[in-house]
Amino acid sequence: MSVFANALKQLEAAAAVAVPAGETMAVLKQPKRIFEVSFPVHLDDGSTRVFTGYRVQYDDSRGPYKGGIRFHPQTDLDEVKALAFWMTIKCAVVGVPFGGGKGGVTVEPKNFSEAELERLSRAYFRAIAPFVGPDVDVPAPDVNTNPKIMAWFADEYARYVGRQLPGVVTGKPLSVGGSKGRMSATGQGGLFVLDEHLRNEGREVAETRIVIQGFGNAGQHFARLADERGYRIVAVSDSRGAMLNTSGLDVQALIEHKNKTGGVSGFVGGQQADPNRILETECEVIVPAALENQLTLDNASKIQAGVVLELANGPTTPEADEVLIERGVVVIPDVLANAGGVAVSYFEWVQNRQGYYWSYDEVRAQLEKRMTVAYADVRQEAEAHHTTFRKAAFVMALRRIAEAREARGWQ
Ligand code: GLU
Repeated sequence: MSVFANALKQLEAAAAVAVPAGETMAVLKQPKRIFEVSFPVHLDDGSTRVFTGYRVQYDDSRGPYKGGIRFHPQTDLDEVKALAFWMTIKCAVVGVPFGGGKGGVTVEPKNFSEAELERLSRAYFRAIAPFVGPDVDVPAPDVNTNPKIMAWFADEYARYVGRQLPGVVTGKPLSVGGSKGRMSATGQGGLFVLDEHLRNEGREVAETRIVIQGFGNAGQHFARLADERGYRIVAVSDSRGAMLNTSGLDVQALIEHKNKTGGVSGFVGGQQADPNRILETECEVIVPAALENQLTLDNASKIQAGVVLELANGPTTPEADEVLIERGVVVIPDVLANAGGVAVSYFEWVQNRQGYYWSYDEVRAQLEKRMTVAYADVRQEAEAHHTTFRKAAFVMALRRIAEAREARGWQ
């Protein structure tokens, strides 16, 4: 299944609601630039392996390209193109002055030593260093990358240009120009959106059971914050297993268990469940927070939840989307639901340029404002066009991109 083909289907579906001005549609059907790089890395056993990486610069109508870097064995150009496209839409939805980009290396980093991971990260960044920069293209973390790796990236870039420019990458550790609240930003942003949605629908937090697929950065922070907020987290899965507890999982203890053992499996505070069927669990809200193509024709008709909050990028195929629409399931799309990550990346980039660092409360308040406004904008757009949140978010983003193109005098 081509992820990029799915992304383009979403674009076409939005254009059927409202065609964006000028050549926006034609321009957005492919990325502006694609870099494919290969680089050798010395492994601890004395051998050398050549890896392939990508950086896709999809669109820069609204500002420098922006988007994370993924290390994953299934990462290929098709996936990176789709993710870069979604970043373009996402940045426009949440109103940050960036275009969209994404990077990736085809690698299984889980068995790497720390030294190997550092050599791989630095080699990849050396390969793309000539094409990025705070005003050009700004990478960030994504699946299997983290603040430590971002610090190596910033360091490689400083060596490359001969001076420190921390704004070349976001999601850095606090000690080298990171922002407070960046680690939890995707989860926190998703929670603000869910809160807003339930408030608009007149529904109660305490009566809302949540199931989370994926327990990486986004899933864990979302689970912890939602639990603190009073939601009941009834099931959680990761790539290896799943745990269920209908009276609510002890999220803090589950996070500690995962840190200790590497997975959620075997946690004493719940029953073992089938990770492949976790999204079919009885609950009010499901939160796919792992990879693409998780809601498909195979399981869309079996979803019991009334709301899907897409914390992952691209978890729902266009065919599954149709089934969910028919069944009256509300999908809060990735380009809105997980935009908290890039919103705080934008705050980090601003702080790097200011050389002045905000308090956690300031970051949180600014994030809440931005996510609440983005939700209200999308909801209003959906009502105006009698359409879904996904199509509404795309229509709004395409209009904003078209406006920027027009203002620049671009064809
Ligand atoms: N990787 C995250 C995403 O998919 C964050 C990107 C960023 O902060 O630039 O939205």
